[in-house]
Amino acid sequence: MSSEKQTIIILGAGPAGLMLAFKLLQRAELNIELIIIEKRNHPGGIAASFQQEGIWLDYGSHRLHPSTPEHILNDIKNIIGPSLLKRVRNGRIRLQGHYLKFPLQPLDCLVHLPVSFIFGIFRDILKKPFRPSGPALSFADQLLHGLGPTICEKFYFPYAKKLWGCPPDQIDVEQARKRVSAGTVSKIVKKMLSFLPGVNSSEANVFYYPEEGIGQISEKLAAKVTDMDGQIIYDTTVTGITMEKSRGFSISVKKHNDVHKQLKADFIFSTIPVTRIVSLLASKRSCPALTAAESLTHRNMVFFYLLMECDQWQVVDAHYFPETDYIFSRISEGKNYNGTLTPRGKTIICCEIPCQHDDEIWLADDEKLKRLVLADMKKGAIPAKNLVKVFSKRQTNVYPVYTIGYSKKLRVIEQYLSKIPTLISLGRQGLFTHDNIHHTMMMADRAAHCLGINGQWDVDKWEEFCNEFSNYVVVD
Ligand SMILES: Cc1cc2nc3c(=O)[nH]c(=O)nc-3n(C[C@H](O)[C@H](O)[C@H](O)COP(=O)(O)OP(=O)(O)OC[C@H]3O[C@@H](n4cnc5c(N)ncnc54)[C@H](O)[C@@H]3O)c2cc1C
Repeated sequence: MSSEKQTIIILGAGPAGLMLAFKLLQRAELNIELIIIEKRNHPGGIAASFQQEGIWLDYGSHRLHPSTPEHILNDIKNIIGPSLLKRVRNGRIRLQGHYLKFPLQPLDCLVHLPVSFIFGIFRDILKKPFRPSGPALSFADQLLHGLGPTICEKFYFPYAKKLWGCPPDQIDVEQARKRVSAGTVSKIVKKMLSFLPGVNSSEANVFYYPEEGIGQISEKLAAKVTDMDGQIIYDTTVTGITMEKSRGFSISVKKHNDVHKQLKADFIFSTIPVTRIVSLLASKRSCPALTAAESLTHRNMVFFYLLMECDQWQVVDAHYFPETDYIFSRISEGKNYNGTLTPRGKTIICCEIPCQHDDEIWLADDEKLKRLVLADMKKGAIPAKNLVKVFSKRQTNVYPVYTIGYSKKLRVIEQYLSKIPTLISLGRQGLFTHDNIHHTMMMADRAAHCLGINGQWDVDKWEEFCNEFSNYVVVD
């Protein structure tokens, strides 16, 4: 055990911050006091849940994917116990006026997609050898080369515009690598085949889901962290970080009741937006990292919920809407995720509406959102049933936007932060990525192994792990 007690402060009680706390507290050889600071009054971050009318709801569709590394999955299973359910996916995607099973299945596509669409894909395959093959600069270049115009123009390009709010030729090529796991037609077919029963033993078509919503993972982890003598301070926002002359940090925090406090830390792990951490640290307005941080952008999301008087609205768990004709990108029905039939006579669905900070959607009241959502549900042939109530929730920074040139700015920030070896930024927002829960938990697991017993940080090991993280591809 190290001689001097180290104070470790983790910013953010989402899946990454909590898993990191759990992993650090498990290391008996570390002599640490561990505090998590969370601005909300509950754990879970974007992957939190809440209950309404006796129904567990998430902030949009959330599942724990079967690609979760085994040791992380085992940790979650041990912490949650039998409440972690294994469920079969049952999604649909709206394309060209038709619903297809999602994840896509070959026969279903052949039967339901318009002949012109299928013909277009075959034409694109034949033309592929003649498409320009220079280095791709943008999301559009990369996908056009790999997939051809039919799939791009009817599916990926409108989806990109909807999700990230900018044209696909202004989105960095990295976005295609991180978000599109099947970037060629042959990869799409291979992926579709992997979802056929009996083809893939890794059970590609299942997911894990806790009885009380995805947030139950974080709730249970938070309880475990507290049991292990970690402290979680909720309702508290970090408002400033100063590096002390000798060593460590002084962190200014503000409670929601406006009480200000100073906390001392030897080591900080931050899972809050990396753009924010730079603005908390940078003392000079002229700091290049601050300029870079201020020019990186995120998308926001409005989660619009509809309470209906019926046991179940649809048998499908999630409907995906890549086309821009619909304001929502996805609709999910909470009861279909944990498979509960109770409470009887009511169900709630959640529409995910990506938007910009302060745009028309972000500022819209529930009446306006209701009009827009109901009209598009009707257009999609899935009207509401016995609607009794609507409500909305909002989250900022849900998707980082990778406009061309973003990586240069991110590098400026990374270089700035690398000069502060006792402050590590990680997690989905800390690394400015789109990653899944299991990815961010892996980051936490890896980070916990880089801290030495006297508080020294293994820079080389962390760099190696960061290279590993940069290869993560988002699972939808
Ligand atoms: C619509 C949507 C659907 C998704 N679906 C899935 C899915 O099906 N499966 C999957 O694996 N992943 C999914 N994800 C991704 C998943 O939500 C994230 O991977 C996960 O939440 C990231 O965890 P994190 O701890 O890194 O970050 P976060 O969850 O963002 O947690 C960061 C925490 O920091 C806190 N914080 C921020 N600023 C401050 C501050 N100044 N002071 C104190 N605290 C602060 C926040 O309140 C938050 O609790 C989805 C994401 C979205 C947006």
